[in-house]
Amino acid sequence: MNRTSASARRKGQLSFLETESGSPWENFLAQIDAVIPHLGELSRWSETLKRPKRALVVDVPIILDDGSVAHFEGFRVHHNISRGPAKGGVRFHQDSTLNEVMALAGWMTIKNAVVNLPFGGGKGAVRVDPRLLSQEELERLTRRYTSEISSMIGPDKDIPAPDVNTNAQTMAWMMDTYASSNGHTVNSVVTGKPIALGGSIGRIEATGKGVFLTTCAVLRALGDSLEGKRIAVQGFGNVGGIAAQFLQAAGAKIVAVQDVDGCVVNPAGIDVPKLLAHKDVTRGIRDSRLGDDADRKDLWDVDADILIPAAIESQITASVAARIRTRIVVEGANGPTTPEADRVLAERGITVVPDVLANAGGVIVSYFEWVQGFNSLFWREPEVASRLEQILIEAFNEVWDTHVAVGTSLRGAAYILGCRRVLQARQQRGLYP
Ligand code: GLU
Repeated sequence: MNRTSASARRKGQLSFLETESGSPWENFLAQIDAVIPHLGELSRWSETLKRPKRALVVDVPIILDDGSVAHFEGFRVHHNISRGPAKGGVRFHQDSTLNEVMALAGWMTIKNAVVNLPFGGGKGAVRVDPRLLSQEELERLTRRYTSEISSMIGPDKDIPAPDVNTNAQTMAWMMDTYASSNGHTVNSVVTGKPIALGGSIGRIEATGKGVFLTTCAVLRALGDSLEGKRIAVQGFGNVGGIAAQFLQAAGAKIVAVQDVDGCVVNPAGIDVPKLLAHKDVTRGIRDSRLGDDADRKDLWDVDADILIPAAIESQITASVAARIRTRIVVEGANGPTTPEADRVLAERGITVVPDVLANAGGVIVSYFEWVQGFNSLFWREPEVASRLEQILIEAFNEVWDTHVAVGTSLRGAAYILGCRRVLQARQQRGLYP
């Protein structure tokens, strides 16, 4: 055993924290390490951010429509609960791993602290390609997964929400499964529910709208405006598709869209509502005739002002970062930029609005949904919209001011603010026993 791992063992290093370099969790740790020198006295507590509070791996067996049995791997991680219950989505994706879910939970801890919600960070996933399952199989999968993680979740404990490939219907099944075993309806165990089950107005579009609001905010801070800006978007789902709609309606031009099945490029601007309608019918964005169909990787070479990665993590690698031609990157996805890519973007003078701020609109309206559920009193659209904007813009300004004052990137500034809040809570609570 070499000396580093011997000393790591003495410190109680956990085996599952020994991860490959370049993995999402490694990337998260590098982002934390980068701000520790700015945390002063609080850095004494920083190790708490480098260890998930708890992680559960479950087997999720279901009967398929043909009568056979299939097993899927499920995860739920509470990264940190110093500031409140764990909060974060559940995704269904064929490539999900415990390592990825740990990182996603960590990013939720930072995000919830940056926008000052009274939540810690959590995340869950089932390693499955949901496109291969029927609606009935998906329902059985969701219910069995919920039942397997039921010891982790609860309205004052951990509140799941939609993420990649999950939606309001998924949340309705989760809520119903949890409620059935409790013998009474428990609306606030999940957010992102259908409105008829206690969902909030404005939750579906909240993440995309937040990406739009932070894009406008960064342009304003740079002394510019959205009018006529050319934007390239990766991902055309609940985040990328909705952000593109808001951005186009406010005067920007969406010049390229990439999704899992292809890429559409149109320097004159793609008609976003028409491309969304085409995707609704064909399940993809190819053959839309709303621009030229291109190779997926061509997205990175498009001549535009702003790039919005709104798919999954680790898409902007160092080599992609060296290629892109935009001045600004607004992260709609969680963890889309690797730490090496971040360095390349900084060297090239490209401004990055980090995920923990840019995509926080979703969890902010999740918070509103949770609060409304507890009060059994539901808000109208203008109240949701104005409170969302207020929280997001306040957080943006704090991050921007810290970035100017400390001289770090916007990600560095957001992590300084977020880590400080989490570690202050940790310090004030003290350690038991
Ligand atoms: N999945 C979303 C995110 O990554 C929303 C989480 C939530 O609403 O709890 O921020």
